Formats: sequence, C-alpha cells, structure tokens
Amino acid sequence: MHLPTLVIMTLVTNVLIGFYLSVLYRRKPKDKCFKLWALSCGSFVIGAALASSRSYNIPEFFTFFVADFLLILTPTLILLGLIQFSRFRYTKRKRKQYFAAFSTVVVLLLATFQHHQLVSFIAALATASLFGLCAYLLHKSVINEPILTRTLKTIFIVHSAVMLIQAILIIINWGTINQNGLPESSIYTLLSHILLTTLTALLLPWLCFLKLERQLTLKSQRDGLTKLANREYFFSQVARYWQEYPSLPTAVMMIDIDLFKNINDNFGHATGDRTIKLVAQVLSKQLRSNDIIGRVGGEEYAALLVDIDQHTAFKIAQRLCEQVAKQLRFIGKDEVEVTISIGMAQLKPANYSYEAALKAADVALYASKESGRNTVSIGKIKEN
Ligand code: GH3
Ligand code: MG
Ligand code: MG
Repeated sequence: MHLPTLVIMTLVTNVLIGFYLSVLYRRKPKDKCFKLWALSCGSFVIGAALASSRSYNIPEFFTFFVADFLLILTPTLILLGLIQFSRFRYTKRKRKQYFAAFSTVVVLLLATFQHHQLVSFIAALATASLFGLCAYLLHKSVINEPILTRTLKTIFIVHSAVMLIQAILIIINWGTINQNGLPESSIYTLLSHILLTTLTALLLPWLCFLKLERQLTLKSQRDGLTKLANREYFFSQVARYWQEYPSLPTAVMMIDIDLFKNINDNFGHATGDRTIKLVAQVLSKQLRSNDIIGRVGGEEYAALLVDIDQHTAFKIAQRLCEQVAKQLRFIGKDEVEVTISIGMAQLKPANYSYEAALKAADVALYASKESGRNTVSIGKIKEN
C-alpha cells in the first residue's frame, strides 16, 4: 500500500477517535480519562503529521523537537488516563519522580533535536518505557475482563517492543540514518506503531464501559444501607452453593433484631438505620470470609456457614448474639441495648432443598422469640 496514503488514513482515523472520545467526555465529564485519551489522539495526530513532514523545508525545531515531544506526550496522556480510570493513588513523591523523569526527557529532546540519531533514539526509548508502564498499570487495574484487558495489555507490550526495536535499529544504523532521523528499515516499525496507537484508542472507551457495567452489577447485588448482599443476591448465592457443594455440611441462620420497633419509636428512624448498619458490621466481622451473609428484610439478616458441624454452628450463633449485645449497648450517645435472636438449621444440601432449610431456620427464629429473645434455637427440617 502507498505509505503516505496509509499515514493520512491513520491520522484521519485518530482525529475521528479523538473526536469520539471528546464527545464521550462531554457526556460524562466526571470521567476525566476520556479527556486525557482524546488529548492523546490530538497529540499523536499533530506529532505524527509534523514528523511526516521532515522532508519538507520546515524548521527542525518543529519536525524533530515538537514532533517527538508530542509523540512522547501521547503515551503519557494514555498513562494519565489509565491512572485516572483505575483511581490509583500516587504518593506526592512518586508523582514528583514521574514529573522529573518526563521533564528530563523533554530537556534531552530540546538539547539533542539537531542530532537526528540521538533525538530519535531518546524518543523511541521514552515511548517504549511509557507503553511498558501502561501495560503494568493495566495489569494492576481492578477491571478483570480477560479478553479485553489481555488484548490491551498485549497491544501495550507490543508497542513497547516495537519502540525498543526502533531504538536498537537506530543504534545499528547510526551512520546511515535518513533525513527523517530513522533507519530505512524502521519504516515498518513506524507503521506498526501508528496502527497500534489507533487500535489502543479504539479499545480504551470499551474498558470504561466494562467498568461502569461492573459497578452497576455490584450495586444491584448490594443493599444500600449495610452493603451486605441484598435479598435476591443472597438467595442466588445460596442456590449456587447448593448446586456446587451438595455434600458439604452446612448451616443456615435467620437473624432478627429484637424489639426493633421500640428502637425506631424511642430513638428515631435515623438511629434505627444506624442500628441495622452496625448489627450488619458485627455479624460480618464474626463470620468467615467464605460464609455468605445478606440483609433479607428490614431488620432481618440471613447467613450460610460453609463446611460446619451443628455444635460449632450453634456456638458461632451464640457468639453472634453475645457480640451484638456486648458491642451495641450504645448507638452514638443513645443507650439502646440492641440484641438479636437467631434460628438455625444444620444439614447437607444434597438431602434438603435450600427453601426447606431456610424455612426451618425461620421457624426456629420464632421459637427464639417465644423463649425470650437474645438466644439461638435449632430447627428441624422437613424431608424434601
Ligand atoms: P421482634 O423482636 O418480634 O422482631 O420485634 P420487632 O419490633 O423487631 O418486630 P417487627 O417486625 O414488628 O418490627 C420491625 C420494624 O422494623 C418495623 C419497621 O418499621 C422497621 N423497619 C423495617 N425496615 C427498616 C429500615 O430500613 N429502617 C428502619 N429504621 N426501620 C425499619
Ligand atoms: Mg425484629
Ligand atoms: Mg422482623
């Protein structure tokens, strides 16, 4: 293919992607990563256009210094966008170090732009390091969408490798560098660099949408007040557990705050809400990380304890009652004296349905209420 045509096509594509990203930014101004990535497209287009016009009679300051500065700014902006996107917290010291490194490269470019080999070598090396950093950051990102993150990571690593090859080619061909400051053979590395940048710009917004989708999914599974699993998600997790671990001894518990109506009536709804939240915190702290707990009603919780015998489950339930009573004597300045009642059932999932198990725990909960509250009762399960 005719090289200048390909370069022009890539530049036009980058202008369009930059425009697309800036429209996304206007739509979602909170996501500053779109702005940074749009700017990176702009920086790439102007930098590449200036670098492509090296054979014309334009001052080297523009075709080498400004061009290389903008081409290095491109991955820097991608990197800043990724930092923004991943909400990485950089210490002041680290930020200062990165800024110092970037400024050093700019000063080096300024000092060497008349030596075509040297300036091209520095630019290639800086770009390679920046894309390496992008890949590293993505590796640490919270988004774990295998195909997409792997593709982007691969692109960043290939980018980095291409620019390293470019740097090596410059050293090998030091004496025979062409007027563009590049060895003749490196035209292909340049081309792949252009194509990879375009592909990156196309994939980045996708990453943002996946993050948004993940946040929405998480939100739909959690209860807003306590951040525990909500009713629907709790039941779906229990159903999944029932399928996956039919032969593990398991305990289910229904937990209810005692005389909660009085708390609302005597101390107000806000204290009531705070109580629900604090009880949730005490309960989840007492359980193991692989146990499942959810808020299944106003002041009702349910829990599934994994791989446990009846005696231990009973002891844990008693401990839950003790800890709530002990830790929640006061809610703020109000002497509230919160207690809970628990109904539990212990079984092997293969033998009973989870509906029957939870029903048995619920019946046992009423027995606990009947026998004076702040206590645990064990339920009997009806056969499937
Ligand atoms: P028992 O010991 O028998 O469980 O008595 P109780 O007062 O806890 O039982 P009841 O079910 O009669 O009262 C529950 C109250 O919880 C009624 C409702 O107004 C209140 N409630 C439900 N959801 C919320 C909530 O999200 N916040 C607050 N503050 N109150 C809630
Ligand atoms: Mg209650
Ligand atoms: Mg209740």
